[in-house]
Amino acid sequence: MSLVQELRPGRLFLCRLDHNSEIVASITFLAKALGIETAAVSAIGALQRAEIGYYDQETHEYKTIEVSHPTEISSLTGNLSIREGVPFLHAHATLADSDGNLLGGHLQSGTVFAAEVYIRELLGRPLVRRHDPTTDLYLWSETD
Ligand code: ZN
Repeated sequence: MSLVQELRPGRLFLCRLDHNSEIVASITFLAKALGIETAAVSAIGALQRAEIGYYDQETHEYKTIEVSHPTEISSLTGNLSIREGVPFLHAHATLADSDGNLLGGHLQSGTVFAAEVYIRELLGRPLVRRHDPTTDLYLWSETD
């Protein structure tokens, strides 16, 4: 049976991230500062550089793809939930280069050129990530 958790809408936030800030750390910091435990997150903007992860399902390790040039954040979608007692951002991004070519995957880090973030807080019993032995990932689990 799939894990299904019913939540209800909470506060809504639009946030502009600082130039030169690290995008994953900035969104995580905002979540902590605003007291958000669970949320849906999306963003658009531009990054100066980034690291995108690809999870190898055989070796259970992330391959890191270095994006050393500026890109547009065509799409960033993700969520905030609780891992080891603190808010944790899980986000995937699609980045576009100067020719419009796309590169995407699990967002590991990125240096902000400009970014606008939309955070939709979700209220109810917070979702908690725990280690899943099958995938070796930290997935949402039943709270006991
Ligand atoms: Zn991911």
